[in-house]
Amino acid sequence: MRYFLLPLGCATNKADSERIAAVLESIGYTLADNEEDASVIGIVACSIRQSAIDRVYSKIHKWNQRKRKKPLITFVSGCILPEDQRKFLKLFDLLVKLEEVSKLPQMLKEYGVVAPQSFWEITPRRGSSYKALVPIQNGCDKFCTFCAVPYTRGREESRPSAEILTEVDELLVGGYKQITLLGQNVNSYGLDVETEMSFAELLREIGKKADAAPHKVWVHYTSPHPRDMNADVYEVQSSSPSLANYLNLPLQSGDDEVLRRMNRRYSLEQYLEKLDLARKYMPDLTVSTDIIVGFCGETTEQFERTRAAMVRGKFDLAFIAQYSARPGAVAQQRFQDDVAKADKKQRDIDLTDVLRETAAENNQKLVGKVITVLVEQVSRKPGKLLGRSEGLKSVEFESGDQDLIGNFVDMKITSADAWRLQGELIGFNEAN
Ligand code: SF4
Repeated sequence: MRYFLLPLGCATNKADSERIAAVLESIGYTLADNEEDASVIGIVACSIRQSAIDRVYSKIHKWNQRKRKKPLITFVSGCILPEDQRKFLKLFDLLVKLEEVSKLPQMLKEYGVVAPQSFWEITPRRGSSYKALVPIQNGCDKFCTFCAVPYTRGREESRPSAEILTEVDELLVGGYKQITLLGQNVNSYGLDVETEMSFAELLREIGKKADAAPHKVWVHYTSPHPRDMNADVYEVQSSSPSLANYLNLPLQSGDDEVLRRMNRRYSLEQYLEKLDLARKYMPDLTVSTDIIVGFCGETTEQFERTRAAMVRGKFDLAFIAQYSARPGAVAQQRFQDDVAKADKKQRDIDLTDVLRETAAENNQKLVGKVITVLVEQVSRKPGKLLGRSEGLKSVEFESGDQDLIGNFVDMKITSADAWRLQGELIGFNEAN
């Protein structure tokens, strides 16, 4: 019995799919090398992006055709709007809500009745032996008008800290070197449960454990909301060597009126205060941001304020999206998607130009320095490997030694452009 899973969308869906894989393996399924070899195929879908929805339709069409030749059970799970759920029900054999993943064996009629178990309690099947995603929070109470997450994943729910700390302990014992704490609003952790730790407290506990591990560990977290970000988090992050010097702080727009219509509930000034404070605590911080260009009604002047904010922010990385109406999101019902496609594209290009300059300038400062890199994969360029710095910058270096993958190495940075650092391998990092 073989299964195949296709996670679409964000890292949270990837983490969810690791838990779904664990459930399938608990009843004897093994992972197929490819979808053709599988008798059960699941898709962890994402209603947030139209491109991901299009992919679901193209896949299920193909799988339903395959069913004419050999038996196949298909199911869909993930971050799905009720409207899409209704449509998927007609196409897939099963619709498995995330909170009902533990019932999948029952649904497959292979395993009989299992005791209902919380989704958080399912031990995931890790896709990597050295880096792991640990969900700590699910759902969202922020209701940004461009986003459908509060309607697909529901309200904010913090995972019990005792469970998170146990999972972190297990990962550390298992030798994991990179742990990423995940949540739609990761730093809103604990706000929904009066008796629970705050995000800063949780981070402090995780940092202590990682610092005490016999090997080097980097702990990242994504994505925080600027509104809930505070000095306590920065203080904790700066005081533990294992808590990585990396911050993703989504700005979305540099114009206060656009931010108001997005329901972000911070001003550019408030955002910049939090960004500056982070850099005060962590001068070597790598910062990425998320920006949407061409949001409903965005004028040229408003876009120019975003461009200026990008210059001021000196970001290392930015995830720039051209606005597209997302079904189920408030903006789709309330506002007109009235910025021309060509203008969205041009604004995207303009911001990428700014990013190219700020990222190149930041990366140039690393040339000549020795940094630690976690080796991840073989590069497309023959004889080279790729890894990432603590700030998640891509680093390429000459080596044919694939045994380095999953290990920390020390690297002298020899050159850099906006998107990649080139390095010279110095050697294995002793803290591995
Ligand atoms: S904070 Fe906004 S963008 Fe993030 S998940 Fe919640 S509604 Fe979506």
